[in-house]
Amino acid sequence: MSKRKGPQAGSKQAFGSYLFPHAMTRAKQREVREVLRAYRRAARGLLAYHLRRFYETGHLDRRLDPTKAPLTTPLSDRYLWVCSQQVVDILSGYLGVLEERVRALILGSTLPEEQKGRLLRLNARGLWQQRDVKTVKVGGQEMPVLPEDLRLLRHLFRRARKENRLPRLGRIAMHLDGKVARLEARKDWVPKRKNRGWRARRGEGVALFPLWLHLSSLVPRQPIAVPLEGNPYAEGVPGAWRNFFQIGEEGGRVYVRRVKALEGRPYTPRTERLALDVGLSPLMATDRGDLLGRGFLRLLQAYDAEIQAIARKAQREGRRLREVQEYREAVARLRAFLKNEVNRLLNRLVALHAPRVLVVERLDLRAPGLSRRMNRLLSNFGRRYFKEKLERLEVLYGIQVVEVNPAYTSQTCSSCGYVDPGNRQDTQAFRCLACGREINAQVNAARNLLGRSSSPDGWRYTPKRQILQALLRECLERPKGGWSAARGPWGSNPYRVYLPPGLQTPPPGNKRG
Ligand SMILES: [Zn+2]
Repeated sequence: MSKRKGPQAGSKQAFGSYLFPHAMTRAKQREVREVLRAYRRAARGLLAYHLRRFYETGHLDRRLDPTKAPLTTPLSDRYLWVCSQQVVDILSGYLGVLEERVRALILGSTLPEEQKGRLLRLNARGLWQQRDVKTVKVGGQEMPVLPEDLRLLRHLFRRARKENRLPRLGRIAMHLDGKVARLEARKDWVPKRKNRGWRARRGEGVALFPLWLHLSSLVPRQPIAVPLEGNPYAEGVPGAWRNFFQIGEEGGRVYVRRVKALEGRPYTPRTERLALDVGLSPLMATDRGDLLGRGFLRLLQAYDAEIQAIARKAQREGRRLREVQEYREAVARLRAFLKNEVNRLLNRLVALHAPRVLVVERLDLRAPGLSRRMNRLLSNFGRRYFKEKLERLEVLYGIQVVEVNPAYTSQTCSSCGYVDPGNRQDTQAFRCLACGREINAQVNAARNLLGRSSSPDGWRYTPKRQILQALLRECLERPKGGWSAARGPWGSNPYRVYLPPGLQTPPPGNKRG
């Protein structure tokens, strides 16, 4: 089961797409493949067409007429419209990746803090290619937009664009709707009880299959009739089938998926807020102390070794990695593993705590011990699978997902608030140099995320330096008595230079006890 953008992208709805086994002859599969090839070629042309419009107007236009695009294609106008919508969905996903990157560039820059804040707001609104925006609304108030901010944003966008290749459309599946595909349920078959598959009525002349997909071909008025078996599991999932199909090719075989709009499930929250720290060993930790997916890193290392070996062999043989079947298969296995782990563990957390609000950081999976290639794969797919799953939890159960900025959550003590890079012993262990608290590093980070979720917008648009200063201030202003963090070992803390003026000389350390 996988989640895809539905026919109305942007609407709050979860979709499942399910494989339906087909019984196409080789000749029919060949016909479908011809459509698929033409579709992918057209998609590339339409991508360039939409992108050109994006640079002219500053935004993507779903209603842009694809039949006016400069391309030669055997596809009908209906196919072109379907293809064009899909290309817009893919491009908006790509712009989302660029937005993330621009955000990171702004936060990592040496610009004045105030300008960073302004640029982050413009970036979040996607104003990369706008030249004449004069104001933006911030909390109900119109704020002026400075031309030099727009210029700088455009420059950062260009840089992000250079670092991130455009999506490759050579292997996409077609996402088709009723314009070009129509499903027929045979009257001479009846669904079994509780939707568990199909049964043929007795009698003469009964069709061999319960479902037929009539798919437009490259020849007008000569659709391809695709015989489909039922999928008892998918038919039992609560929801409503949509007139929406995904047709692609994997391992030389054509596949057909149907799309279902999933129904919300009854859900009673038992926990108000649950914060989640995503790492690699374990994959997830919560503020409640759960550690889930402890074997995750070890398995990744095994995948990494396998993929690296394939890459080295391909290089020796002078072959391009993308064209090596073995590599594609290994990456497909890795993706299936990642997706399965993310879904499985998040399902478990929901079953364990039933949170009303889930607090997460920006989900970027990276590990120093893994190859660059593996880190790239992890970062791309991991983030995507997390996002998809969280969206699904939001739609199906109404769980609210709150994203917060994770800056310094791994170096701040969740007990006393003392922040110091020395608190972090290694990837697993946290030991506070001020209060002596020892705790799993990720659980500690999750607790800090939880605390941060109550600040306005979770400090998501606050530059790192400002966050550090706020943390230092908080930690010094904590009420004395108990373990006051002000007694921390400031002399060896590299952050002491960011203390508010007047406090840069550490207070005399009254010894504990
Ligand atoms: Zn502490």
